[in-house]
Amino acid sequence: MKEKELLKLKEKVLKCKKCDLYKTKTNCVFGEGDFNAKIMFVGEAPGRNEDLQGKPFVGAAGKFLNELLDFIGLRREEIFITNILKCRPPGNRNPKSNEIKACTPYLDKQIELIKPKIICTLGNFATSYIMKKFGLEPKSMGKIHGKIFKIKNLTQELKIIPLYHPAAAIYNPNMKKILLEDFKKIKSS
Ligand code: URA
Ligand code: SF4
Repeated sequence: MKEKELLKLKEKVLKCKKCDLYKTKTNCVFGEGDFNAKIMFVGEAPGRNEDLQGKPFVGAAGKFLNELLDFIGLRREEIFITNILKCRPPGNRNPKSNEIKACTPYLDKQIELIKPKIICTLGNFATSYIMKKFGLEPKSMGKIHGKIFKIKNLTQELKIIPLYHPAAAIYNPNMKKILLEDFKKIKSS
C-alpha cells in the first residue's frame, strides 16, 4: 500500500523539525503528482510562492516548467515533482549541506515508494545528490545535461537525466533552447 505509506511520510514531513528551516517556513512542500509516476522531477527547494502555497514549482520557474512539460506532451498529474529540501531556505539562498543531509532521507523514501523509471534532476543541487546516490560521478552540468544515465542492478532499473534548472532559463533564451532540446530526450528515452 504505497499510497498509505506516502501519505504517512507526508504527515511526518509536515511536522518535521530536523533542521532549522522549519522555523522560517510558512508551509512545508512535500511534493505532488502521481504516486505511481514513471517520471519524477527533483528540484532544489521551495521558493517564495511554493512556501506560501505548500506546492512545488508554482512560481515563475514552475510556469516555465509547465511550458517545458507541455512541449513534450506531459501533464503534471502524470509525473511526481518534489525537491531536495522540503522547506524554503530564507531569501532563497542555497541549501546548506547539513540541511541536505537532514532532509534527503525523505526524498530517498519517496523514490523507494514511487519507484520511478526516470528521475529528471533540475539544477546542480538535485543533480549532484542523485548522481552520488546512484553511484555516478558528479560532473559539471555543462558536460552532462540532457544525457541519459542508466542504472541497472539487482533491485532497480532506472534512468537519470540531469537538466538545467528552469529558473536559470527564464531570462536566458540560449538556456531555454537547451532545455527544450533536453526535454525532447525525456520523451524519447
Ligand atoms: N525552484 C525549485 O527548485 N523548486 C521549486 O519548487 C520552486 C522553484
Ligand atoms: Fe525537516 Fe527538511 Fe524542513 Fe529541514 S527542510 S525542517 S529536514 S522537512
